[in-house]
Amino acid sequence: MSINQSIKPITTEEKENLTIGGCDLAELAQKYGTPLYVIDEATLRGICREYKAAFKDYDNIRMMYASKALCTSAIIRILDEEGFGFDTVSAGEIYTVYKSGVNMSKVLFNGNNKTAREIELALDYKIGRFSVDNFYEAEILNGIAEKKGLQAEILLRVTPGIECHTHDYIQTGQIDSKFGFDLSQLDEIIELITSRYKNLTLKGVHAHIGSQIFEPKSYYDEVEILVKEIARIKQKYGIDLKEMNIGGGLGVKYTDSDTPPSIKTLADAVTEAMHKYAAEIPVIYIEPGRSIISTAGVTLYTAGSSKQVPGGRKYIAVDGGMADNPRPSMYQAEYTAEVVNKLNYTKTERITIAGRYCESGDILINEIDLPEIEPGDIICVYNTGAYNYSMASNYNRVEKPAMVLVNNSHSDIIVYRETLDNLISFDNIPDRLKKYD
Ligand SMILES: *Cc1c(COP(=O)(O)O)cnc(C)c1O
Repeated sequence: MSINQSIKPITTEEKENLTIGGCDLAELAQKYGTPLYVIDEATLRGICREYKAAFKDYDNIRMMYASKALCTSAIIRILDEEGFGFDTVSAGEIYTVYKSGVNMSKVLFNGNNKTAREIELALDYKIGRFSVDNFYEAEILNGIAEKKGLQAEILLRVTPGIECHTHDYIQTGQIDSKFGFDLSQLDEIIELITSRYKNLTLKGVHAHIGSQIFEPKSYYDEVEILVKEIARIKQKYGIDLKEMNIGGGLGVKYTDSDTPPSIKTLADAVTEAMHKYAAEIPVIYIEPGRSIISTAGVTLYTAGSSKQVPGGRKYIAVDGGMADNPRPSMYQAEYTAEVVNKLNYTKTERITIAGRYCESGDILINEIDLPEIEPGDIICVYNTGAYNYSMASNYNRVEKPAMVLVNNSHSDIIVYRETLDNLISFDNIPDRLKKYD
């Protein structure tokens, strides 16, 4: 079984309490407070190694971690140690990766509206590749590179027109997506690059067909389309594109009803399409985000108030919710949970886990069977490593949680809990509003 096919981190054990990475989760909650993000290092490194093993037949596979899934300095260090490069989408991500000591030639800058300031920063840091998304970007990137006397090495982001069966908001490869060039616009941009954009060096094509993908066939179709385009471009322009970036998107198992394919199955779909078209593309990039980090992460909450709606459902409210995990309210995402300190209790209650934020839609899990919960119980929500902290907000002026890394019965803080002073640290009171005693 691939790690992305497991709901829980691989080191999860049921001892007196639930443990991950050899650490008792009730003790972690006690020591660091809740809500608390917990990342299991063994699960994270394990899936990195699975990706490398699955693609070992390709000499020039370039594994890129899509940092937007979870971008903190310690996580970047681990991925760097595992030999991954980085897909980044903002100055903030580029800066985090740079400050974490990554060789910037292994970094790609992606996004549909990169600002001039971000492009400058990326060029100054000698970023390896730009994934050029649109005509406007090609124009300003060329202009800025020219001013600096630099050459920007680029991939062209294309929309291959694949509909994968995932939530609307996380589909990106279908025809009317906001991302990338339509295939019918490729000739125009290539002609502009070869005739006018002398500071752009075209290296290849890039696509990303969506997220939380369960169908290996989607990757087969994607590779087929990209390989055919590369061959067509060679024939028409004599340009040998040596690089193909197939994006990320492999799904994970949030609940029992999710059935993501293994990483090996994904690799086989890519290989099969490459063989079918006898494609010789020296460099292939793959950019997983969610499948790298999701399973390694859990969030701990403390149970507080409860409400039994007469003749209706029973709510248990926890001390976090939509600000630390916006996915349920944004995507109707589903999660699985357990009561850390009640492993041997029978699951006698059907409850809805509500967040503490002032929105009726702030529900973490709708109707889950759990033991009877009392205030102070610790609830562990699984598979929160990706797109939780990275999408977190300070809604209701609540401090963002801390994050700890667990390994071999040891825990380390990798993100400090925000303080009340952090919350007001960016505020400014104009002189005329100041209160003088
Ligand atoms: C978001 C994104 C990824 C990662 O997607 P996951 O579903 O998290 O694997 C990869 N490539 C691009 C271009 C992206 O925008």
